[in-house]
Amino acid sequence: MIDFELPEDVKQIQTKVATFVTDVVLPTEAALGPDVELEGDGLAEVVAGLRDKARAAGLFNPHMPESWGGLGLGALGMAIVSQECGVSGLASLALNCMAPDEGNMHLLLHAGTGEQNETYLRPLAEGRARSCFAMTERAAGADPLGIATTAERDGDDWVLNGEKWFITGAMGAAFAIVVAKTASGDSERNSYSLFLVDGDNPGWKVLREIPVMGTHGPGGHCEVLLEDCRVGSDSMLGGPGEGYKLAQVRLGPARLAHAMRWIGVAQRALDLAAQRALERHTFGEPLAKRQTVQNWLADSAIELYASRLMVLHAAYLIEKNKDYRQEVSMSKVYISEILNKVVDRALQIHGALGYSGDMPLERFYRDARAARIYDGPSEVHRMVIARNVLRTVMTAGTAKPATGGLA
Ligand SMILES: Cc1cc2nc3c(=O)[nH]c(=O)nc-3n(C[C@H](O)[C@H](O)[C@H](O)COP(=O)(O)OP(=O)(O)OC[C@H]3O[C@@H](n4cnc5c(N)ncnc54)[C@H](O)[C@@H]3O)c2cc1C
Repeated sequence: MIDFELPEDVKQIQTKVATFVTDVVLPTEAALGPDVELEGDGLAEVVAGLRDKARAAGLFNPHMPESWGGLGLGALGMAIVSQECGVSGLASLALNCMAPDEGNMHLLLHAGTGEQNETYLRPLAEGRARSCFAMTERAAGADPLGIATTAERDGDDWVLNGEKWFITGAMGAAFAIVVAKTASGDSERNSYSLFLVDGDNPGWKVLREIPVMGTHGPGGHCEVLLEDCRVGSDSMLGGPGEGYKLAQVRLGPARLAHAMRWIGVAQRALDLAAQRALERHTFGEPLAKRQTVQNWLADSAIELYASRLMVLHAAYLIEKNKDYRQEVSMSKVYISEILNKVVDRALQIHGALGYSGDMPLERFYRDARAARIYDGPSEVHRMVIARNVLRTVMTAGTAKPATGGLA
């Protein structure tokens, strides 16, 4: 029998996180005002205060192993925690499990040496530093095999040259994990390596925060120049030529982590929409009595239900060390797209109020748009999903294994 009951320890953490978000995070967000941009000097202080409270509540670092001061939750536990955190951008920051640091912490745990982890992972795990992941370039985004940043040997050192673009959190980051082309490997995919570059390296130049439609988050989305950026031989993360493979190791669970947080955002939008539909009267009746509004609420509920099941199944595959790539891609595409729909409907139900900065919906709306682009645009994931459908039909005569492989 399939058991949809959550394990008792996960249930307890879910309740604690939900209470923490309601009692601590949302009042903080409200006090910051409706146009909280999750940036600026004041934010660091606010986040530090929230982290003290998260530590006191035993909720800090849910994603990290206990040996690193965390709660040791796997993908399933994190799916639950992240959904609760999704309701406010401040919640993941409070628990120290926000992008891009969460993905970088996982990657360092996976590939870092003991020394690298003391230098780079320790400050992240203690919430003392921020980091960024620098892969995309102006001319190489959806197709990372066009990355032109190079790393060349000079004695024992490596010297990196190139430009990166849209690097989240780069301004003020203590370090970056940079994807650069090293010696040509046996294939294009094996030609890239990862490097740990300190934020104060004179060759790592954060040129500007790129103005964007959504909120910036700490450190913005930045354009960076790597100019004769010299790093030591011990700065390579993983082996030579493993950059592409390790980037995928990072991106798989990181994509799912985003999808989990989006469910939290969509749930908050639906809650606000339903509340407003009950309260707002037009032409003598509450909006909740209108069939169109009921359809919007119902469709949002259906989509959230499907999203939750997809995420839990993909998280289960990750925890069981099974191949999760198709399911994570399908979850990423579906949930990023329903997020846009659910938020749009909620905004419409609120009319002008929804469009105003007095509600968080216009911020959710602006932020949601990027979800269909970063971590791989929907179209590229669809290309990969369709390729798997065609491959399984050719090999197994049916696409069933490429549709979640459930009974
Ligand atoms: C808010 C935000 C944060 C980001 N943070 C980071 C970060 O921290 N680090 C980092 O390295 N990068 C980051 N990125 C960059 C992100 O990974 C890229 O934007 C993404 O990979 C797409 O690349 P691109 O923007 O160059 O689009 P392009 O590669 O120019 O593609 C443009 C469009 O073409 C279409 N397209 C592309 N290929 C195909 C195809 N095969 N079939 C059909 N259609 C296709 C898609 O619609 C796509 O949206 C971030 C982006 C955003 C918006």
